[in-house]
Amino acid sequence: ASEWERFETWSRASGEHNARAAASLPLGVTSSFQYWEPYPITIEKARGAWLTDVGGNRLLDLSMGFGAGLVGHLNPQVVAAVTETLNSIGTLFVTPSPQATDMAERFKKRFDLDMLRFTNSGTESLMYAIRAARAFTRRRAIAKIEGGYHGGYDALQVSVKPALEDIGPADRPIPDAPFDAITGDVHVVAYNDLGQLERAFREHGDEIAAFVVEPVIENLAIVLPDEGYLEGVRALCDQYGVVLIFDEVKTGLTAGHGGAAQRLGVKPDLITLAKSIGGGLPLAAFGGKQEVMNVVVDGRMDHFGTYNGNALVMAAADAVDRLITPEASQGLEDLNTRTLDTMDSIIAEYELPAHTVGLGAKGCVTWSTTPVRNYRDYKATDFGVAELSWLWGVNRGVLTPPGLDEQWLVSLAHTEDDMGILIEDFRSLAQELRA
Ligand code: PLP
Repeated sequence: ASEWERFETWSRASGEHNARAAASLPLGVTSSFQYWEPYPITIEKARGAWLTDVGGNRLLDLSMGFGAGLVGHLNPQVVAAVTETLNSIGTLFVTPSPQATDMAERFKKRFDLDMLRFTNSGTESLMYAIRAARAFTRRRAIAKIEGGYHGGYDALQVSVKPALEDIGPADRPIPDAPFDAITGDVHVVAYNDLGQLERAFREHGDEIAAFVVEPVIENLAIVLPDEGYLEGVRALCDQYGVVLIFDEVKTGLTAGHGGAAQRLGVKPDLITLAKSIGGGLPLAAFGGKQEVMNVVVDGRMDHFGTYNGNALVMAAADAVDRLITPEASQGLEDLNTRTLDTMDSIIAEYELPAHTVGLGAKGCVTWSTTPVRNYRDYKATDFGVAELSWLWGVNRGVLTPPGLDEQWLVSLAHTEDDMGILIEDFRSLAQELRA
């Protein structure tokens, strides 16, 4: 209770702002993820790894736009590229451009794709990837992970954060739409469970167009694949002719130089990208194998978008592509690993019921002593302590992502000292919890 009082004291300006905003914007925000109770912190500006809120408070940003800020806020190279484009090239031609072709060629190489199209958001990329899979297979249904989030497209707003009492026995999860979404047929399976996937395919395989999965789940903190899981998924999709879509909106460049699929050595049929590839600008993409992308070439489906591949966003992508070299990715991962190791030693020293999980430039503390392998394990973690941990941080100027299902990101702007602030904040929480 005293931590909430403390929160409402320093963040008063945000509370006042939210009251004003709520008269025009539902809940006072422009994406439902921006809202939390009692009110979200309203940010006025950002530079490097730091945010300034409407009350003038400075916060160390470890959320970095859910991972979109991989190169840091106002990265000088991104700013220079975008400014140059604004001053001398233009923003939007709605025609082909050398910039878009150039970026497509570089993305193909980096992510091992045959073809791709640019979009403006992860949601759009998923929507079109599903359309491509349906056009390719002439099937309609989709399989997805229980507890998997893939953006706001109706067909995927199923079993995102289901209440356990609504979803049936663990070995047979039941699709659960949080509102009256037009979903079509969706089959829900647990992550890391090849038996359930095989059963879904055996019973419904000839109706299922695509299996959509984050190769590493980054909407349940971080959940890693068991040894052999993704290989098994690949084999089952091949056996049943199901298009395998890896949603790399969150993993992408934060997982490593070529994304999570390449890091883990399993090649999907289609991949969706967003966030980290755009340097903070709205860039996303979907692409993959030639035989699937041919549905766009030969007119089995269309893909549209006024803003797709616009020059401004391509300029930012170009800068990000140059910045995220293999060495840069390794540097982020090394700093993250040192951070995770120190957090682990604090967990051990204070005997906290927690463990850390990391991938590439991202990490999290999971409040359970046993590994989390799927949504139901995640639901069994200690949300009370997780919330206190978030509140403890933000009350001391350390902003980890607001959702308890998120993770921190080490960006190019974060220094060893910055990560030290996160560590010391965690140590002070550990002392409090043990006191
Ligand atoms: N897919 C995943 C895995 C995501 O985490 C998100 C957003 O957080 C999306 C898709 C949707 O992306 P966007 O918010 O750009 O529409």
